[in-house]
Amino acid sequence: MSGPARSGSHIPSVTGRESLSYTVQLDRQLTSLEVDMCPSGFAIERLNAPSEGAQALLRNGTIMTSAGSLACPGEGVDVPHPKTDDCVHYGVVLPQTWRDPSALRRAGKDLLASPDLWLWVPTARPEGLHVHARLELPDGIVAALPWPRSGSNFEIPETAFEWKAGGGFTHSPPALLTFAGARVELDVLGEGNAKRDREIEDWLIESARASSSLFGHFPVPRTLVLAVMGERKGAAFGMALRGGGPTVVIFLDAQVSAATLKEDWTCTHEFLHLGVPRLPPEDAWLFEGLSTYYTEVTRARAGIIAPEVAYQRLLDGFARGRSDAGSLTLREESARMRARRSFIKVYWAGAAIAFLTDVAARRAGGATLDDALRSFADCCATSEGAWTAGTVLARLDETLGAHRFTGQANQWLDNAHFPDTDAAVQALGLRSGQHGAAIFEQSPEAQLRDAIMAWRSPTPRSTMPNGRRPDGQ
Ligand SMILES: [Zn+2]
Repeated sequence: MSGPARSGSHIPSVTGRESLSYTVQLDRQLTSLEVDMCPSGFAIERLNAPSEGAQALLRNGTIMTSAGSLACPGEGVDVPHPKTDDCVHYGVVLPQTWRDPSALRRAGKDLLASPDLWLWVPTARPEGLHVHARLELPDGIVAALPWPRSGSNFEIPETAFEWKAGGGFTHSPPALLTFAGARVELDVLGEGNAKRDREIEDWLIESARASSSLFGHFPVPRTLVLAVMGERKGAAFGMALRGGGPTVVIFLDAQVSAATLKEDWTCTHEFLHLGVPRLPPEDAWLFEGLSTYYTEVTRARAGIIAPEVAYQRLLDGFARGRSDAGSLTLREESARMRARRSFIKVYWAGAAIAFLTDVAARRAGGATLDDALRSFADCCATSEGAWTAGTVLARLDETLGAHRFTGQANQWLDNAHFPDTDAAVQALGLRSGQHGAAIFEQSPEAQLRDAIMAWRSPTPRSTMPNGRRPDGQ
């Protein structure tokens, strides 16, 4: 992930009209990129590698400037005697395999190649710098990039330099889907066929419908979805990325059956992530917890799984999280989740906190957790601000009218015990069943149990008050 150091710094704008233009040429075999970077109204003083180790892909390990070639063995290079409007040039070699296959990999003839590997970062940048790109691609090759288009060019948002991004190049045109006012561009990378592409499209539409049942509409006005076909053990693995614009990358088993794909939760889970702005990795308990809880809830609402199945999956998840609990608190575990691979505890403890908050809010009457997340997504899903779990919870609690979510978080974050869900589960009349379905028992709170999984119809974005601009922000 690009940290603040890699993304560089800013200087005051002198004219308010400084711009930077990338021209990117791709060869027919998809093995190399030639990049020209031309500033207008300012000088490129330094270039930073767009992600850790990206300098290893520079052709000859160098960047060309008007003063000659600069060796770039490290994470960046200073340009000696920088001159206003002086262009730089570099070549990027796109290897057959790369150490991070979630950023670069071959899928049939197509290529997943995150801009994090080839979009070098100029620093310091004038405030408000207008950055755009022109791609020169061989006939029949299409760029799958998250950046907003402007005619035949792309506008590159500042987040492209700050946050992890997805992107690639394919041989088939994208499917442009509109869903409740949102534009979803689907690019399938890899040997496809019309039948399989249609199955993926149907899955994506169903997943969009499910996630929209939470927010009342698709969580963001536009997103790019890259479906990367290949060999994998599980059916699917996904990532929701923000750099340069919302992007969902899903790695799919090329052999997955239509029936398995239909029931797979990955796409719903990733779409749900888009409803909350980017949070720092240590807040995984919150963004993964919300997505994990609502992945089951919204799929039940959309009729993809039965409410009994959704509840059983929650009960099973809570049990797995509980048995995975160690001596670290949830806050510590969340901060070290990737290193310790404590995904199950963090995801499901977060989901349990969301469940407990949902139940508490419904008991109190008034605004529900759904209402709070809906209102939050409307204001802030596409926000590029520096959010934290604390500031998100404060906003959600504002809608909830009480310190409900913050209270639950405070109770469990500094605790090594898994959140106690037993009392709520019992009160809702839920019992673990066999064959993957929970048993619903008679209970005074049966109505609340059913309401959680009840369908809320999406409202078209055009009917929303204060309709957002199509490109967010
Ligand atoms: Zn997730």
